[in-house]
Amino acid sequence: MTFQIIIIGGGIVGLATGLKLLQKNPRLKIAIIEKETEVAKHQTGNNSGVIHSGLYYKPGSLKAINCIKGYHELIKFCQEEHIPFELTGKVVVATRKEQVPILNSLLKRGIENGLEGTRSITLDELKQFEPYCAGVAAIHVPQTGIVDYKLVAEKYAMKFQELGGEIFLNHKVDAIKQAGKTSIIQTSQGDFQTDLTINCAGLYSDKVAQMSQKESLDVKIIPFRGEYYKLKKEREYLVKNLIYPVPDPNFPFLGVHFTRMMKGGVEAGPNAVLAFKREGYKRSQVNLGELSETLAWPGFQKVAAKYWKTGFGELYRSFSKTAFTNALKELIPDIQESDLVVGGAGVRAQACDKTGGLLDDFSIKENEFSINVLNAPSPAATSSLSIGDTVSELALKRF
Ligand SMILES: Cc1cc2nc3c(=O)[nH]c(=O)nc-3n(C[C@H](O)[C@H](O)[C@H](O)COP(=O)(O)OP(=O)(O)OC[C@H]3O[C@@H](n4cnc5c(N)ncnc54)[C@H](O)[C@@H]3O)c2cc1C
Repeated sequence: MTFQIIIIGGGIVGLATGLKLLQKNPRLKIAIIEKETEVAKHQTGNNSGVIHSGLYYKPGSLKAINCIKGYHELIKFCQEEHIPFELTGKVVVATRKEQVPILNSLLKRGIENGLEGTRSITLDELKQFEPYCAGVAAIHVPQTGIVDYKLVAEKYAMKFQELGGEIFLNHKVDAIKQAGKTSIIQTSQGDFQTDLTINCAGLYSDKVAQMSQKESLDVKIIPFRGEYYKLKKEREYLVKNLIYPVPDPNFPFLGVHFTRMMKGGVEAGPNAVLAFKREGYKRSQVNLGELSETLAWPGFQKVAAKYWKTGFGELYRSFSKTAFTNALKELIPDIQESDLVVGGAGVRAQACDKTGGLLDDFSIKENEFSINVLNAPSPAATSSLSIGDTVSELALKRF
């Protein structure tokens, strides 16, 4: 089968890219190839469901630009398509004095990023927003919201198909070969031909990128599992909306938080532990080939040597419910181990370069035959329509 553009990966980024392309040029013949039997099975379907406001990201970075633009587009999309969402607002809480300067710089950054209404609040106000939360200082971010990203992704898929796009589920891309300017994409269910490949393969985006280039790629995806607990129904009253700790500037994605979910319930988490399999949602899941690749990657060895203490702390919290509860108690002292039941897990695709840098910003790299989304961690779900817009512009320049 021949298509002008083939997108690999039916997660929220691939689907948003397909939708944007057809909205801009409905005559294009486009397919999305997905290895699972449904869309949004991986990062998109296993995340915290937060509509991020753009508070954390360095002004001018791709994350800051795409998060804020994507935020507005996402909300408009949800309103138009009747997808339930709620602008709940969130509090970010310093629980120790030494976190206060970081909290203040976060507030400054949010204001630089154009967030309206984000402000420091008194501890009395904190009690009004979150009666059971304790801290020494806090800020309130009114723009933050919640949504079910699986529903959003399914709607992108539906609209993509209505515009003439085709989705091939249960097709795993195994190899990409070049025949002149045409790429032959070999899948578990036969070959496809295309003028342009767009790689949105998430946890396998480095592997797919490598299929279409001779030189070896200078980044590797390191999978970090994020495990959640849920608050028991009778204790959900402890959390009104969203409660976040002050992030560690070295690891902005660390730090368990409380999130009221759009589909109901309150989640606590996620932590971040090295997954022994890229799609390993349980501690017991191991893929020796993938694990040894991670361990052999020079960049990972450097990260491990530098941050082993942080890594062990996260691992300890993964095995010990008491330790996990203690981390949560910093924000809500009343929480007891017995209030928590095991929840789900998601695996983050975090790109790591050879020198030990965990890529902070989104990364989109082009070569002659393909466009590769190589790093799309949080807030890529919030930013999906904006990332889709950026990638579709790059693609349309080629036609
Ligand atoms: C625990 C966790 C919490 C998060 N919380 C938030 C949040 O609150 N808000 C937010 O904005 N973001 C959040 N994120 C980030 C967000 O979920 C991701 O950035 C986003 O879902 C990435 O989408 P994607 O399409 O790139 O990847 P994915 O959703 O992983 O999709 C990639 C797809 O590619 C497919 N694929 C891979 N290899 C192949 C192949 N060889 N052939 C065919 N198909 C293939 C996979 O099956 C998959 O469906 C969170 C992420 C995690 C893990």
